[in-house]
Amino acid sequence: MSLPLRARPAVRPDLALLEGYHSPQVDVAIRLNTNEAPVPPPPAFADALAAELSRIQWHRYPDRAATALREAVAAAHGVEPEQVFAANGSNEVLQTVCLAYGGHGRKAALFSPTYLMHGQIAAVAGTEVVVGARAADLTLDLAEVERVVVEHDPAVTFVCSPNNPTGTIEDPATIAAVADLAPGVVVVDEAYGQFADRSALELVGDDRPLVVTRTFSKTWSMAAARLGYLIGPTWLVAELEKVVLPYHLDAAKQVAGRVALRFGAEMEERVAALVAERRRLVDRLGALPVQQWRSDANFVLFRPLDRPGRQVWQGLLDRSVLVRDCSSWPGLDGCLRVTVGTVAEDDAFLDALTEVLQP
Ligand SMILES: *Cc1c(COP(=O)(O)O)cnc(C)c1O
Repeated sequence: MSLPLRARPAVRPDLALLEGYHSPQVDVAIRLNTNEAPVPPPPAFADALAAELSRIQWHRYPDRAATALREAVAAAHGVEPEQVFAANGSNEVLQTVCLAYGGHGRKAALFSPTYLMHGQIAAVAGTEVVVGARAADLTLDLAEVERVVVEHDPAVTFVCSPNNPTGTIEDPATIAAVADLAPGVVVVDEAYGQFADRSALELVGDDRPLVVTRTFSKTWSMAAARLGYLIGPTWLVAELEKVVLPYHLDAAKQVAGRVALRFGAEMEERVAALVAERRRLVDRLGALPVQQWRSDANFVLFRPLDRPGRQVWQGLLDRSVLVRDCSSWPGLDGCLRVTVGTVAEDDAFLDALTEVLQP
């Protein structure tokens, strides 16, 4: 027997309307819907990790400051460990920023269409979300950024570059301009940063309230580990440390991240291969009746020209190919997003799509 609806305690009124985040995990042969890496980390990584895991003192709390992991991340980016904050996936990094700088009576700005979780995380943290529009080519429009930040004085401003789900990248100069305009913390979500040739990392310093977030979920083939981090001003990282739960990063994850960073060269090879494969996918899509957008990430946004997006999505699913259905998202009418997979997976997708789009 379940408690009847009317007898259940009500959630916070500002949460009642939230729908949650859904990316359906259905059982299909070809999964190109969540932008994961198509192959696991190198076997040598698994071996090295197993050896390190056997040395963990499981009866002890882990290093609360994640010292060794932060040193390794800092070394990889040429920054100081005090500029690194790590958490359980970059989503938890974003949540921690919102808990520290957003919250009741404060606002977070984002520019749509963009990563749905930015608004979701900000709202769950009690932050009012204000939404600006992107330019027609889906890049940031600085006049619109200025309008939104002047009108709303946001405590947090989100920029996603390369942007999910559009693939659009921003120049560091544009991001610096956003940081000049925005009054609060500017969060540059670079979950796909390694696939691009530009980064806002060069803008990070103690003189600017700007952070860049990264994740092990995409490039590093480690979505299962749930590990992400940000690089930001030391004084901001110190504030985030006050907000997280004690020992929020477990020992196994700290080790996994540290060991992964020893395989930087292998990861870079994989990124290069995915970028080459993205070019091939884009070329092949160009021969089909779809509109597509330039992508600097490991996915491509496209819109079937003479067929409803939802119908094409279903047609692909009927052929055991799962892509992301963005067709009902604001500003993305009829659009689908496909993750760059292996050559075989992408060929299966292209074959299925060709069939579905047959006149
Ligand atoms: C996938 C993705 C993330 C990753 O989140 P994790 O919690 O690190 O898995 C963050 N931001 C964007 C834009 C993403 O697409």
